[in-house]
Order: sequence, then C-alpha cells, then structure tokens
Amino acid sequence: MTSKKDKFISACATLARGEAGRTGDWRAKRPIIDLSKCTPCKTGKPSCYLCWLYCPDGTVGRGMPVEIDLTYCKGCGICAEVCPTKAISMEVEEDFLDADCGGRTEAERVPGES
Ligand code: SF4
Ligand code: SF4
Repeated sequence: MTSKKDKFISACATLARGEAGRTGDWRAKRPIIDLSKCTPCKTGKPSCYLCWLYCPDGTVGRGMPVEIDLTYCKGCGICAEVCPTKAISMEVEEDFLDADCGGRTEAERVPGES
C-alpha cells in the first residue's frame, strides 16, 4: 500500500565531472566551440548553457567562456545537437593528435602502433 509520504519520494542524482572515467585516446570526435556564436560569450550574460545541462559526462563548464574538459569528454556529440546557435562542431579527433599536448607526436608513438 502506498502511503502519503511515498508520493513525495523522488529519485535524485548529482552528476560528477567525468562520471564515466577518463576518455583516454579512443574519442573519435572532438567538440569545438565557436565562441563568436556562443550565447554567453556574445551577450556577456550567463545564459543558455544547454551544452552543460545535457552533457552526460558533466564535462562542460558553466562559465564564461564555456569550456569542455577533454580529459573526460567522450565525443558523443549531444552538446552539438542541443546547441541552439550551432556553436559547437564535432571535429575528427585524429586531426588534433599531433597538434596538442594531449596527443602524441609521431616520434613518441610506440613502434608497431598505428
Ligand atoms: S549550448 Fe551553445 S550557445 Fe548555449 S552555452 Fe553551449 S555552446 Fe553556448
Ligand atoms: S561531446 Fe558529449 S561528452 Fe563531450 S562535451 Fe559534448 S555532450 Fe559532453
């Protein structure tokens, strides 16, 4: 039998950054934010943040400017899908591997590894 008290019980979860762990090097797509299209940056007001709200891994910061923690981002593309101004584009991860400090240069690659 359901008591009156049970009616007010609801599930509640707080997402922690990187809930699903570090991404490592398997992400296929990387979200890139064009800040000239991002509403908080354009208006100078803390607004929108739909990318922060919907990111399933809690890797989007709700600041100014909006930032994505690539250590945990899985490249799912949800942030790009929900962005109302199309400020986020999903780029091929391989294009960044030799360019940023998170990737390895050709010289650092382990022999036999692709
Ligand atoms: S959803 Fe798009 S416009 Fe909104 S804060 Fe995120 S990047 Fe900016
Ligand atoms: S691609 Fe997915 S995991 Fe990465 S910031 Fe966007 S919503 Fe979050």
